[in-house]
Amino acid sequence: MTMYRGRVHAPRWLLVLALVGASACGGLFRVGPTIAPLISARYLSVHLVAGDTADAQEKARLPTLRDSLAGALPAAWALATQGRGQLFLRNEGDIDVELAGTNGTSALTQHSRGGKVTSRTITVHTIDGNRRLMVPDLMATTLHELGHIWCCYGPGTSGGHWSDPEPTGFSYVGLMFPTIRCQASVGSEPVCPNAFSDRELSEMGLGSP
Ligand SMILES: [Zn+2]
Repeated sequence: MTMYRGRVHAPRWLLVLALVGASACGGLFRVGPTIAPLISARYLSVHLVAGDTADAQEKARLPTLRDSLAGALPAAWALATQGRGQLFLRNEGDIDVELAGTNGTSALTQHSRGGKVTSRTITVHTIDGNRRLMVPDLMATTLHELGHIWCCYGPGTSGGHWSDPEPTGFSYVGLMFPTIRCQASVGSEPVCPNAFSDRELSEMGLGSP
């Protein structure tokens, strides 16, 4: 749908900003054999919750972060999938996403029993080193981790990520490299990738409208 395509290109003014943010991902931790996921990127339900933390500042931020992400995630998923996927927030979702108010490496964990995936959990950490992440960082991380349900396997991948050299500049397109590169300037929220590339959409079963 053309209404989404136009929004994934960087406005020219962004090119003058420094590339500063780079969030790492723990990759895909799997237990048991790999089977094709039964859930669909075209119609995905997510249970998004704020976790617990001993960090007082994060404890205060988590409810607002959770609400902001929850409000924006359906539209962000539509944008990221060129309008091919729909996302709904549910109490009983296909996958649980927990915002953890701690420093750590965000990851998708799948639990299997008898070769069948019985549950999936994404943990999104809200602190990266010394940075308290903002909604754009957290959204890009959430999209990346959701992408791991389907992507990326086989030739040209390693640990769930593309293994070819990562582009050095900023791009809105491409969410499944090992690091998520955002742009930031002092006093502004970071600007992060927001769209899956064509090969990522293909891996996710969204190769065609
Ligand atoms: Zn990853």
